[in-house]
Amino acid sequence: MMIDLKKIVRKNILELKPYSSARDEFSENSSMSSELLFLDANENPFGELNRYPDPYQLELKQCLAEIKQIPTDQIFIGNGSDEVIDLLFRVFCEPGKDKALTFSPTYGMYNVSSAINDVQLLEVPLNEKFNIDLSITTSYINDNNLKLLFICTPNNPTGNCLNRDAIIEILESFNGIVAIDEAYIDFSSETSWIEILDQFSNLVVIQTFSKARGLAAARIGVCFGSTEIIRLLNKVKPPYNISELNQRAAIASLKSTDKFEREVKILLKERDRLTLELAAIDFVSEVYPSQANFLLVEVDDADLRYQQLVQSGVIPRNRNTVVRNCLRITVGSPNQNDELIGLCNTLSIENNKVAE
Ligand code: PMP
Repeated sequence: MMIDLKKIVRKNILELKPYSSARDEFSENSSMSSELLFLDANENPFGELNRYPDPYQLELKQCLAEIKQIPTDQIFIGNGSDEVIDLLFRVFCEPGKDKALTFSPTYGMYNVSSAINDVQLLEVPLNEKFNIDLSITTSYINDNNLKLLFICTPNNPTGNCLNRDAIIEILESFNGIVAIDEAYIDFSSETSWIEILDQFSNLVVIQTFSKARGLAAARIGVCFGSTEIIRLLNKVKPPYNISELNQRAAIASLKSTDKFEREVKILLKERDRLTLELAAIDFVSEVYPSQANFLLVEVDDADLRYQQLVQSGVIPRNRNTVVRNCLRITVGSPNQNDELIGLCNTLSIENNKVAE
C-alpha cells in the first residue's frame, strides 16, 4: 500500500515546529570538536556527564545501520520500545476521534498507550491457533478513523509468529500504519519484517534491546520505517530522549556480537529443554510452541500454581485472565531453569500425595 502520509498524520503534528535544541542549531564538525568551547546549552563545565547527549544518537544508528542494512535516516531510537509505541499514537491518532487495532491476546502496553492517548482500541481476537483471522479483520480495517494497527510477532504472551500471508494482506489493504512489534525476533526462526521495509510505505518495525540484547535497564527501543515516518517521530520525541550512558551501552552491545550470539544460542537450547521438561510435569496440560524467550504453559489451575511457585521464590507471570489457566514463564539461565523444574517436580509429588 502506498499511503498518503499527509492524510493520516495528525494535523497539529504535521504543522508542528519542533523544539530546536542547542545541538540542533550547532552540530560540531568532529575534527574540530575538541577545540570548540560550547557555551550554548547552559551545561555545567565540570564533571563527566555534564554535556547533553547526541539528540539523534548517530553513532548508535550507524552501528545499527551496518548490522541491519538500513540507512540511518530510516532508524528512530526510543526510550524503550514503549516510547516508540506511545509516539506512534501521538503522531497518527487524533485523541477522542481516531482508532487503533490489536490482535488479542497480546502485549498490554498497546491498550494502555491507546487509553493514555484517548484513542479507542479495537481488539480483534486471534483464532484458536493464536493466528490472525482475516475474515473478521477485514471489516475493521475499512474504518476511516482507524489509523494504527499493531501486530506483535512473535506474539507476547502466546509465543508464536503470526501468519505471514495475513500480515501481507493487511499491509496491502490497510490505509494506515502497520506497526510490527518484533521484540522477540532474535529468538525466532522467521526473518524480520525489516527485510521488506521498502516495499510498504505504511510499515514500521519495532525492535528492542531489552530481550536478546540483555539491556532492559538501558531502555533502548528501535523503530525502522520510511524516512518520512522517522522524521515525524523525531519531531515529536523529547529532545534528548536517550541518555549518554544508554547510548554507550547500546553501542557496546552491538560491538559484542560473540556475546550476543552465545547467549541467544544458550537461551534457545534452554527453551527446547524447558518445553520438554515442563510438558512432563503432572499439572501441566500444554506447553505452547515458542519463537520467543518465554513459554506459555497451560496448567490445571493457574492461580493455585502461581501462588505455589511464588511462595517458593520463583516468579512466573500469571496470564490466567488473558489465556485461561496459563502461566507465562521466561526462559532463564540453565541453573535457574533447573531450579524451576525441580520445584515443579516437588509440587507435583506433593499434589499426588494429597490425592492419595
Ligand atoms: N513489545 C513487546 C511485545 C514486549 O513484550 C515488550 C516488553 N515486555 C515491549 C515491547 C517493551 O519493550 P521495551 O523494554 O523496549 O520498552
